[in-house]
Amino acid sequence: MTGWTQDQPLLRLKDVHKSFGAVEVLKGVSFDVAKGEVICIIGPSGSGKSTILRCINALVPIDSGSILVEGQEVNDPKLDKLALRRKVGMVFQQYNLFPHKTALQNVMMAPVQVLKQNKAEVEARAYRLLKKVRLEGKEASYPGELSGGQQQRVAIARSLAMSPDVILFDEVTAALDPETVKEVLVTIRELAEEGMTCILVTHEMGFAREVGDHIYFTDRGVIVEHGAPKEFFAQAQDPRTRQFLDQIL
Ligand code: ADP
Ligand code: MG
Repeated sequence: MTGWTQDQPLLRLKDVHKSFGAVEVLKGVSFDVAKGEVICIIGPSGSGKSTILRCINALVPIDSGSILVEGQEVNDPKLDKLALRRKVGMVFQQYNLFPHKTALQNVMMAPVQVLKQNKAEVEARAYRLLKKVRLEGKEASYPGELSGGQQQRVAIARSLAMSPDVILFDEVTAALDPETVKEVLVTIRELAEEGMTCILVTHEMGFAREVGDHIYFTDRGVIVEHGAPKEFFAQAQDPRTRQFLDQIL
């Protein structure tokens, strides 16, 4: 029991430090995410965005500080990582679908094999999830038969199949053709509108402005600046933020 209640932050990072060898990649990162919130992390390449997400999901251990997911310390050696990853879904730039499994089988795999859930129930849910990400009719398709955007939506459905409380998206549209970026963003926006808590690392500034509740700008392992999208994009003060925005807007 953690005593966590839904009015407390779903996620809380406090002064998180992480080094790889001699290089300190996160130099004291702190932020809270409330249930139902969509936060966007933007910033130059190498600034630590992916590392933040990987620490939240316990894919890499932190050196100091604290990461609480629903009140539970991720930085606890006794942590049940499987339980954490059921709560915290993650979608990557490379969708990593199993090439010899159909879209439906990809979505069903973890609930059946890892969670040992009833196959018929998982299958019914997988059909619903593929419909939700607008892939009705593609259930029997193999990844190689799908566009990048379609594969990424299978990956999102696969993440949803674990019924997560929050989903981390790491530049999920960065590798896609421009024409399929939008359909993936539409899917994410629909999830956000339904109240899914989302943390997005993205270079899609229009999307961040439209869908994000809060924007964080990272540079060299620190959060330099943050704010609600409207203020952030209009009034960012820090020269590093301005320079970044001026390059891509
Ligand atoms: P971003 O996602 O903002 O581009 P990353 O979090 O991927 O940045 O990386 C931040 C820094 O940490 C980079 O300098 C990167 O080379 C380094 N880094 C990330 N993962 C590792 C790792 N597993 N081992 C060593 N260095 C790493
Ligand atoms: Mg990255």
